[in-house]
Amino acid sequence: MKPISLTFVLFSTLLISSASFAQIPILNTYDTPQPKVVAPGLTSTENGVAAPSDAVILFDGKDLSEWNSKNGEPQWAVHDGIFTVTKGTGDIYTKKEFFDFQLHIEFMHPSDITGDGQMRGNSGVFLHGLYEIQVLENYNNENKTYVNGQAGAIYRQHPPLVNPLKKPGQWNSYDIIFTAPTFNADKTYRTNPRVTILLNGILIQNNAVIYGCTSDEKIYEQLKGGIRLQDHGCVVSYRNIWVREL
Ligand code: MG
Repeated sequence: MKPISLTFVLFSTLLISSASFAQIPILNTYDTPQPKVVAPGLTSTENGVAAPSDAVILFDGKDLSEWNSKNGEPQWAVHDGIFTVTKGTGDIYTKKEFFDFQLHIEFMHPSDITGDGQMRGNSGVFLHGLYEIQVLENYNNENKTYVNGQAGAIYRQHPPLVNPLKKPGQWNSYDIIFTAPTFNADKTYRTNPRVTILLNGILIQNNAVIYGCTSDEKIYEQLKGGIRLQDHGCVVSYRNIWVREL
């Protein structure tokens, strides 16, 4: 039998080894276009995080002109650069609608808060008006409730990864990165909505899959939507609300 040549062995090995690696797109370096320059908003312990230069400002401490309610102008109380739920007047929602976005919003429960379970500081931030990120007072897990109904839960779908909530009387912040869903012809999700959330700078939802509307568990064929804040019959205050469209 003819001996196999060393060249043949080397060539075959090279072919096999090159075939076993997946190809990645060729990475080039290039100089244009440069990323847009964005000036971050001022951050302070006292006043929270102001909007960066490219944000859509939804509340800057002055009025609720960017918001509506079912009965027309919102009846929630604007005072001292913040606004507070006026119980029984209903949810409020933004006039503007968004596809994918980064949302910053700060909330605080009153230091003299009462109530327990889901009636302790309940409100909510509804993305696209459909998907609720829960607002609740459950500092230090002292207010017992179901885990996917805690602050930072995607309501009744995913509990938060950890609980970094601050005490009543102190401001909390949500930084929310939302990817809108896409749809099949039969109105089911082609890709589900997804969300990443930081609560007080701590990751609590990591690119979590949202299964559908958190209120009625249905899928709505809706590509964009506003931000809705919930009146759940509890006193909760908000400030520094801004969106960066992605
Ligand atoms: Mg709620």
